[in-house]
Order: sequence, then C-alpha cells, then structure tokens
Amino acid sequence: MSNSFVFEPAAPVTARVSGAKALFPVHRIYCVGRNYAEHAKEMGSDPTREPPFFFCKPADAIIADDVPVPYPPRTQNFHHEVELVLALQGGGKNLTLEAAASCIYGYAIGIDWTRRDLQNDAKKTGRPWDTGKAFDASATLGPIHPRSAVGELRRGRIWLSVNDDLRQQGDLGDLIWNNAEIIAELSTLFELRPGDLIYTGTPAGVAAVVPGDRLEAGIDGLGKIALEIR
Ligand code: MN
Repeated sequence: MSNSFVFEPAAPVTARVSGAKALFPVHRIYCVGRNYAEHAKEMGSDPTREPPFFFCKPADAIIADDVPVPYPPRTQNFHHEVELVLALQGGGKNLTLEAAASCIYGYAIGIDWTRRDLQNDAKKTGRPWDTGKAFDASATLGPIHPRSAVGELRRGRIWLSVNDDLRQQGDLGDLIWNNAEIIAELSTLFELRPGDLIYTGTPAGVAAVVPGDRLEAGIDGLGKIALEIR
C-alpha cells in the first residue's frame, strides 16, 4: 500500500478537556476585538460608536497552559490579553441566539498574545493584523471545562496577574456582545463548525511582559492557569 500523502501531515490540533481523557479537536480560532468598553477606550476607540469585530488565528497557534510561552521574534512590546474562550460542539450559518447558545461545548481560560508594536504599525498603515496577532504560539489555552459540568458562564470575575501584580480585571457580564450574540454574529460571516474556538475579547489592563515573567489568570467557575514567559 502506498502512502496517500507526499509527506507526513501535521498532527491534528487538540485541547485538553477537564475531567476527561478524550481530547477536544480544534478546527479554527476566531477572536473578538474590543468586546469590553473599558479595553476599547484604552485602545483609543469609542465603544458607543464602533461595535466589536472579528479576526482569526491559525489553529496551530494554540499553546497549552502548562508549557512556557516563548517570547516571539520581531517585537519589543509583547502584550497579554486574558479572555474567556468558547469551545463549540455545533455550528452552522445565520444561527438564532438560541441555536448559537446550544453550540457551546464548554469554556476555557485563554490568552490572546499580541505583538502590540506590529499590530499598531498595521493599524497605522491599514494592513492586515496577522503579524501582530496570528504568530506561532499566540494563543494560550487552558483546559476546556464542559458546559455540562460548569453551567452557563454569563458573569463572573476575569483577571490576570504578572509576578503577583494584578494587571487585568473585569467581569464577563460587561461583555458588549455576550456569548450567544458573538456566535450568532460570527455565523453570519463564516459557517461555524464543531471544534471552533472563540476568544471573546479582553478586559482593560493589557500590558507588556518580558522573559522570566510569571503569569496567573483566572475566570470564576474555571479556576486559574499559571505560566511563565521563556
Ligand atoms: Mn484579544
């Protein structure tokens, strides 16, 4: 029997599921920009005039929470953005809010790593955000907690500390687009699939890290994650 591939295909991207042996197979990573009013303001935009929006990262940008994050090349301003991540078990196009809510398999703590200097250059020049947002290991992902175990996550504290200094803090209840609204809106732009992950946006307090920094991040109901910048 001859091999079907001209070289060995990459292993599928997976995420750990809390309390289960089976892995969650990752399809795509979608991200929401400026979904907390206080963060939109710190980035210089007016949340009452400009709604949230979407961008993407490649699925293999996922890095588990239990390994150090490599400081990426070509940046002097590497930022943390702690976010609630939605993990989908269903999908479709043009979903109602009810159908959107039922797509959620579970929730995780994530960090949307950002080369802020490259993102700011891209904004100034009207170029794509990929080099600022979609680089290797740019999406820390903690274990996925099934909705069947933790219930619906609609409010609760979300926070991140660096070397024991609290940097980011917010409440999931302050999301401009809530979980079902994000999924419904996204499904008007893309056909969603089981395995999709959605980083739902970050609260205020984003800032730079350097190698050696120790981070902790938590969301009420999901515990916390801890990692180091290498
Ligand atoms: Mn973000």
